[in-house]
Amino acid sequence: MSNLEHADPEIASLIAREDHRQARQIRLIPSENYTSAAVMEATGSSLTNKYSEGYPNKRYYEGQEFIDQIELIAIGRAKSLFGAEHVNVQPYSGSPANLAAFVALCQPGDTIMGLSLPHGGHLTHGWSVSATGQFYKSERYEVHPETHRLDYDAIRAKALAVRPRVLIAGATAYSRQIDFAIFAEIAKECGAYLLCDIAHISGLVAGGAHPSPIPHADVVSTTTHKTLRGPRGGMLLCKELHAKAVDRAVFPGLQGGPHENVIAGLAVALKEAATPAFTAYAHAIVANAKALAERLLEHGFSLVTGGTDNHLILFDATSKGATGKEMARAMAIAGLEANANTIPFDPRKPFDPSGVRIGTPAVTSRGMGPAEMIQIADWIARVSEARQSPDSLARITTEIDTLCQQFPAPGIPV
Ligand SMILES: *Cc1c(COP(=O)(O)O)cnc(C)c1O
Repeated sequence: MSNLEHADPEIASLIAREDHRQARQIRLIPSENYTSAAVMEATGSSLTNKYSEGYPNKRYYEGQEFIDQIELIAIGRAKSLFGAEHVNVQPYSGSPANLAAFVALCQPGDTIMGLSLPHGGHLTHGWSVSATGQFYKSERYEVHPETHRLDYDAIRAKALAVRPRVLIAGATAYSRQIDFAIFAEIAKECGAYLLCDIAHISGLVAGGAHPSPIPHADVVSTTTHKTLRGPRGGMLLCKELHAKAVDRAVFPGLQGGPHENVIAGLAVALKEAATPAFTAYAHAIVANAKALAERLLEHGFSLVTGGTDNHLILFDATSKGATGKEMARAMAIAGLEANANTIPFDPRKPFDPSGVRIGTPAVTSRGMGPAEMIQIADWIARVSEARQSPDSLARITTEIDTLCQQFPAPGIPV
């Protein structure tokens, strides 16, 4: 960091403070993780200087002899890790990857159908404030009113009624496995393409801790920075049949020069994700989430769907007399980073919903296990009881600081 400290001490100091914050807080935001130092080195390399519009061996600029090799390695590793026929590693992030999938599979004005945002879907699945909800006719399905799980009979009935061009399976706040095989049946019955968005769970899929959508989907989209533990970016995986359309949609359809520095970081992350250690990591994420959920239930928390079988837990803070925002705020003061989130059929408004969303990808990257999950659940329970008391929250902060020093955050200079 010495170059940066010299050139711009203000930014250098803010980054150092952010390093410290990330190292000394317990990261429970389920979409966040810690990349390895190796991934960060590749991402912060000279590759950021290079323009590479096009695809390997079909570029518009000279000087691609090393860039092409890097992008081909990233593509090859993604194909073999996920068993995909074709992969595009250029999307800048998960949102542009989803838009590219729609551009590849349908026309403006066509109907797309995904899980409603307040029920756990993502903005880019056709929500009204997203371009995907403005360029396409958007239909939504919801979770079951009692179980709060995906209701495949209702999804089938709605899909047959509205006949979407693209059916979307995937979520940003859903704590159960998604049955991609049933989604594929429904898509076939109603004549839709199936887009599976595994932004949150791609690391679980890679590590064998969640069934893969690859055999079932026309196109799979994902971020690279959530459970997959790569640099911030996006990726599209598809059948050979859609390869040309997907590539054309990403470039020149939506993007210009790809971020080859990020693609190099992704290549490194994909190599890491192909190791037995990563398989163990993916399973440990789920085991930790189950341990955390069980202890929260013992403390009387109400969990959406009653628990979890992935990396994520959604709890109803109003079961502890707090709003989601009050609870998330108090947790943050104590040193437990989470986010307020709507719960299905939430009676409260989206900017101050009833729920809090937590997850275990980041704490598992630090090497924490079930014993630490019990400790974290106990802290969350104490926060809920003492959220008005700065002294009690400060005592929890001290305890959290001790635990964080026992489990250093990967990739972060101490
Ligand atoms: C996070 C997420 C995205 C968007 O990814 P960004 O990188 O934030 O653009 C898309 N879909 C789902 C399901 C997500 O959880």
